[in-house]
Amino acid sequence: MDGISANPRTGVFLCTCGGAIPLTIDIRHLEKEAKGMSGVVHASTTDFLCHPESRKRITETIVSERLDRVAIAACSPLIYGKEFREAAEQGKVKGCLMEMANIREQCAFIHDEKGKATEKAAVIVSAAVAKLAATGEKEGDNKALVKSEACSGCGVCLSTCRVSAVRLIDDPGRPGRKVASVDPKMCEGCGACVAACPSAAMDQSCFSNIEVTAEIDAITPVRATEDEGYPNIVVFACNWCSYAAGDLAGIKRLQSQASFKVIRTMCSARVDPEWVMRALSRGADGVLILAGKPGRCHYEVGSIRTNRRMLLLKEVIHQLGFDQSRFRTAFVDSDQPELYQQEIEMFIQKIKEIGPNPTRTPEPGERVYSTDYQFGSGISEAAMRARDLI
Ligand code: SF4
Ligand code: SF4
Repeated sequence: MDGISANPRTGVFLCTCGGAIPLTIDIRHLEKEAKGMSGVVHASTTDFLCHPESRKRITETIVSERLDRVAIAACSPLIYGKEFREAAEQGKVKGCLMEMANIREQCAFIHDEKGKATEKAAVIVSAAVAKLAATGEKEGDNKALVKSEACSGCGVCLSTCRVSAVRLIDDPGRPGRKVASVDPKMCEGCGACVAACPSAAMDQSCFSNIEVTAEIDAITPVRATEDEGYPNIVVFACNWCSYAAGDLAGIKRLQSQASFKVIRTMCSARVDPEWVMRALSRGADGVLILAGKPGRCHYEVGSIRTNRRMLLLKEVIHQLGFDQSRFRTAFVDSDQPELYQQEIEMFIQKIKEIGPNPTRTPEPGERVYSTDYQFGSGISEAAMRARDLI
């Protein structure tokens, strides 16, 4: 992780999907908004961005505009992620430097109010652009990483990893002490060990703390009043289960209120208690974690770990003075789009009953409950207590 780029050259490529997306999103307005986003030097709209000719033009534009980051505002990364990644890589924009903003399945297809859908799409694109700005230029595949100087050698990560990709080795810098080491060939990038490390000595490329924090911040902008943008709900969805269910909900056109924005992680066990605290302390009215159904989790025990950790975090949230109902964990499998929609609608309803989060969004630079999220910078007391009890 080499931190937030001072001068990113991001290109945003928007798709109409042959006219399907503009039925509920004002795509020209969205393109204009994208052009004004920090670090964006190119934004354009195409009818079928997934077409081979369009992908070729993406590559050509990367070269002609000297882009170093690419945001694709189109369909789900689970559908055309591989093809867009290849198009970006041909222009030498590699790995995590290509990000998809899912404005189709998870926005245009599920919200029929044009103004609200367009507003939400702009937030989805801005979160992708912010995440890209936080992505280090050398980031490649999605793997767990260890900051050895912060590692205490406790071994929690070893017991968390289901594929035994982590081991303790002699620490070359500290004779007589052990340090964790990840085998990148074995690591499947779930991120469970990263959120479990009690010393914040781990991070993950592609879903790093600083990247996800950038997404959270983009979704929870400063509010002039406590009910501005209310209700604003952050949903964490896991790639293989609940996010896939969200895509299916879109394909089935299951309508929802446009009051929530989704942050995708590979596994729900990657969700760091600090992320939840950060969203709430920045004024999010609610945080919902949608994990895979226990027993059917892609990473076997990921969602069980999530549930245990988040039950404890709920207690911490209460102690910090937040209404516990602002935070919920639920289970949704990939073939349960109706349940996905119901869980989100029920949560929005609950948040509407409670009212706006009275927490004021902090001014830039002001301390929130959490730390500043630099890799290995240490963790908040709340998150520490939740982690200790995993
Ligand atoms: S859990 Fe963290 S501190 Fe413990 S061994 Fe693993 S990386 Fe080191
Ligand atoms: S990210 Fe997942 S697979 Fe990789 S080392 Fe951590 S727990 Fe193991």
